[in-house]
Amino acid sequence: MARMTFCPQCGQRLIVRIIEGRERPHCARETGGCGFIDFGQYSLGVGGIVMNDDAASQHAILLIQRNQEPNRGSWTLPGGFVESDETAEAAVVREVEEETGLRCEIVGLAGFRNRPDPDVNTSYVVFLLRRIGGELIQGPTAEIIQRGFYSLTQVRTMDLLTPLSRELAVAALSGQLCILHAVTVPGMHGRPPVTLFI
Ligand SMILES: [Zn+2]
Repeated sequence: MARMTFCPQCGQRLIVRIIEGRERPHCARETGGCGFIDFGQYSLGVGGIVMNDDAASQHAILLIQRNQEPNRGSWTLPGGFVESDETAEAAVVREVEEETGLRCEIVGLAGFRNRPDPDVNTSYVVFLLRRIGGELIQGPTAEIIQRGFYSLTQVRTMDLLTPLSRELAVAALSGQLCILHAVTVPGMHGRPPVTLFI
């Protein structure tokens, strides 16, 4: 893990000490610091499962082909990264609209994966969404080569579909998803309410 040298909150040089069983860079209060502890780097990504709700067409799932590194050319669920000042639910709705043009709302939580990479511990959360408006963007953009709805047969044989997206797409198209649903829970200490998936 990349270690911080200076405090991101107050700029003071960090010292390393044992905190909660491990050596961690710390902004010591006894030398005028703010008490910040470097617990490591984490990032949160989101993906959206959007099914075609057009009764006349085949049962299909929304996929995008990436036009950016990493993995340019690969197919995945639409999605992206959660900004530090937004919820995962807001991020997935925003990313799906940016990438595909479709406006959606959250149905529930469908999947989670975590991976401790060398520099950052990454988590990926997948939501089932319901389409409520918008039109599919046509043609390539800076981020996306193409996007569309694909059937189970197409998904099973699609080249360059990432393993995670294939697993999720096959489960969704086979009716195998288990969905956790949102409830609103009051915040503590004056903080706003939060959404809990149970
Ligand atoms: Zn500090």
